[in-house]
Amino acid sequence: MASDTDEIRGAKLLIGDTWREASEGPAFSSVNPADEKVLASIAHASPADVDAAVEAATQALRSKEWGQMKPSARGRLLTRIGDLILSNREELARLDCLDAGKPYTSVFHGDVPAAADAFHYFAGLPTTILGETYPSDGTHLAYTLREPVGVVAAIIPWNFPLLMAAWKIAPALATGNTVVLKPAEQTSLSALRLAELCLEAGVPAGALNVVTGLGHTTGAALVRHPGIQMVAFTGSTSVGYEIQRVAAEHFAQVTLELGGKSPHLIFADADLEAATSAAAQGIFFNCGEVCTAGSRLLVQESVYDQVVERLVESTSKLVPSNPLDPDCRLGPLISNEHLERVVQCIEQGQSEGAELLIGGDRPAGEGFFLNPTIFGRVDNNSSIAREEIFGPVLCVIPFVDEADALAIANDTWSGLAAGVWTRDIQRAHRMVRNLQAGTVWVNTYNAFNAMVPYGGIKRSGLGRELSGHAVEHYTQLKSVWFGL
Ligand code: ADP
Repeated sequence: MASDTDEIRGAKLLIGDTWREASEGPAFSSVNPADEKVLASIAHASPADVDAAVEAATQALRSKEWGQMKPSARGRLLTRIGDLILSNREELARLDCLDAGKPYTSVFHGDVPAAADAFHYFAGLPTTILGETYPSDGTHLAYTLREPVGVVAAIIPWNFPLLMAAWKIAPALATGNTVVLKPAEQTSLSALRLAELCLEAGVPAGALNVVTGLGHTTGAALVRHPGIQMVAFTGSTSVGYEIQRVAAEHFAQVTLELGGKSPHLIFADADLEAATSAAAQGIFFNCGEVCTAGSRLLVQESVYDQVVERLVESTSKLVPSNPLDPDCRLGPLISNEHLERVVQCIEQGQSEGAELLIGGDRPAGEGFFLNPTIFGRVDNNSSIAREEIFGPVLCVIPFVDEADALAIANDTWSGLAAGVWTRDIQRAHRMVRNLQAGTVWVNTYNAFNAMVPYGGIKRSGLGRELSGHAVEHYTQLKSVWFGL
């Protein structure tokens, strides 16, 4: 690994333009989930460190270097960050691979270029953020200015460490805000390296700060800090709820991208080969540790046996392996604690009488690996069909017709995403209208792009990330009246 990564391990928190030790308390360890060995020691930011980071971010808002930077210069800065991500592609892919147990190949071809793309996309936005002039009777001139919200607390999860950092930092900086980023405690390394690249690209002191630490300490201190004006959060629904509650105490705005129990529907008239392969990818990609994982596969009864047979057959070839291996398609889960939770869900599924078609057990050896698991003929009311498992565990549920499919699909707390496979164009449009989700994929699944909005309804979140719509969250309107 490159030596600059080793320097990060000694450097710890980024506050202003300096890398500092945490002011108190012991560091914590980041563990490689593939071999259970300690990878790095991570600084645990105290409330005093959070204060310092928020102060640095507040100063930067008013600084000449950041507060008065030309929009086109902000755009060029974001372009440089995107370019630096691409020129450090191997190292960043390796960091997420080691720290999060993600398959190297998938990070190299997926997460890293997508993170660069977020910066390159948002690089085009600063010069397009406009106010409006309003019709007048001639006695007044009224117009709006679209201004940055202020200091943004960005709190991100461990499943896409680099990409989630990019999805928060890029829109926040594009709109002229400053950021205090708290990576997930399990996966701080790529965010720290990204912060170094941001400084190298020329991000002025204090525009981006990074406080590593645990959720209930560092994260909580950040959310309750009166100096932040917005929390951009991605993570679990329970923590999202808590963050919204605490942020409301000082009227900070929130965007929440939370969990899901997404339905993935296969109708009998679909291209069954493509649909089945997408269904497997939809749940086993990133070991099922994906908010949009298609964890409830709804299959029309007339093709149920056929689809399940194909699915089990392809899954039997999906063997967990070392994520550094270029052929690895299924790595370990993030931690032992999480693995135990997923195993408990599987045991509960079995005790509830769901039909275990494959998996459910662990391969021998070190690492937090779990074999891909499929349950058949699952009752949508059972706990495995209702709770987010966040692992490689698929529930297959039969349905009779369109009405039945919709009733099952929408009978959930979540509303993040849904997928539909059918060749009937009218049915496809009917499903799009009636599925309760922030994103609906038709004859594809898990397609993402920085230009297209992303977010959930129901208990899956608030607000939209990516696209021009992100600008609405990261800016606020000032109305201006001139008497004439
Ligand atoms: P997961 O269940 O995927 O680990 P979490 O919602 O627990 O997701 O964590 C997502 C992010 O939220 C992490 O960076 C974590 O440290 C942070 N976090 C957890 N609890 C809190 C909290 N009470 N306040 C602020 N941040 C938190």
